Amino acid sequence: MTYTSALAESLAPDVLERFQRYVRVDTQSARDPDGSPSTPGQLDLARMLVTELHAIGLGDAALDDNGYVFATLPGPAGAPVIGLLAHMDVSPDAPGAGVEPIVHPGYDGGRIELPRGGTVLDPRDMPVLAGKRGHDIVTSSGDTLLGADDKAGVAEIMAAVAHLAAHPELARPTLRVGFTPDEEIGEGATLFDIERFGARCAYTMDGSQPGELQDETFSAVEVSLTVHGVDIHPGWATGKLVNAARLAGRVVAALPQDRLTPETTSGREGFIHVYELEGNAGRAAVRAIVRDFDDDLLDQHVALLTRTAAEVVAAEPRARLEVAVKEQYRNMRRHLDKDPEVVAAAERAIRAEGLEVRREPIRGGTDGSVLSERGLPTPNIFTGGHEYHSVREWASVQDMAAAAASIIRLAEAWA
Ligand SMILES: [Zn+2]
Repeated sequence: MTYTSALAESLAPDVLERFQRYVRVDTQSARDPDGSPSTPGQLDLARMLVTELHAIGLGDAALDDNGYVFATLPGPAGAPVIGLLAHMDVSPDAPGAGVEPIVHPGYDGGRIELPRGGTVLDPRDMPVLAGKRGHDIVTSSGDTLLGADDKAGVAEIMAAVAHLAAHPELARPTLRVGFTPDEEIGEGATLFDIERFGARCAYTMDGSQPGELQDETFSAVEVSLTVHGVDIHPGWATGKLVNAARLAGRVVAALPQDRLTPETTSGREGFIHVYELEGNAGRAAVRAIVRDFDDDLLDQHVALLTRTAAEVVAAEPRARLEVAVKEQYRNMRRHLDKDPEVVAAAERAIRAEGLEVRREPIRGGTDGSVLSERGLPTPNIFTGGHEYHSVREWASVQDMAAAAASIIRLAEAWA
């Protein structure tokens, strides 16, 4: 009795079957892309989804030139047009090729040892997993991520629209389905054609715990610092070498260590996260993402980072510092506050599925952050997946089914 409803139980086999098929496709995105999508594997999944949408009966399903899949499930004349979104790519931060999902039926609450890479899911370190006793848990084989982020969302939307297409008696608005590429590299909404999508609002299926409904995300900026030194053969370097790699190391060491980092903050606190450091004596680069829920505090963190780098590098007058600040996305909250019915309908849907609504800000962003800013209000709904971007990633079949059922309740809420 771990299912939230008979509807969820009836959807579970289709959700699981689709999920296992989609995670096997290598759709890992790549940073610094040459085009959209950033990797060809995403198109393999996109084509598979177009074929399956046609089979379900969404005859207009099509893949556009930038790797976006759009399709329509028509509702009654005059019904509002509501969007359902999930991203097809998986994170570049863990191995994403050769995913072989494993279903662990009827989880007993103990350690789950995976066959490869010595990977163990230990409920002592994973309180959320500890709470899933009795669920069917899906994991990778231990040496790749699973891809529940966000193929759980893709599978849930597919299973929900298949169910609605097969049950024309169920109430629904006109539903627009959108599957996006390159969310994990922050480009998922960049080339999203909002006009052509034509929805009043949309929902990303891209969260975790049942009941989650997120209308607040970080505001996000990426900062690239490049230090130019003076490189010379070390045998002739006396008084001449200016080592860019050492200077970059000093910049990182001069940043706050016990605050303003991802590992020392939680809740509503922001951070500066140095995620890449590469270089040599001649040139070195530090790449960092900066996050906060408050735009003024975000600006302060960016100023701290660039000021620290400028001071460290200024100590060596022959070195030169280049700074590039790139806007990524903004907290969606202020856009959603203007259109309260969007979140209210999702709350009704989640409660109709017998779940309590959890409203926690996302310490991250979604395609919805950018889409909301561009005029398509898009909060985020749970999917049932956890431990994203790691080889320990897992998902609950029962929770994925609850998410798919919540989509059907959402359709009813907008009918
Ligand atoms: Zn995601």
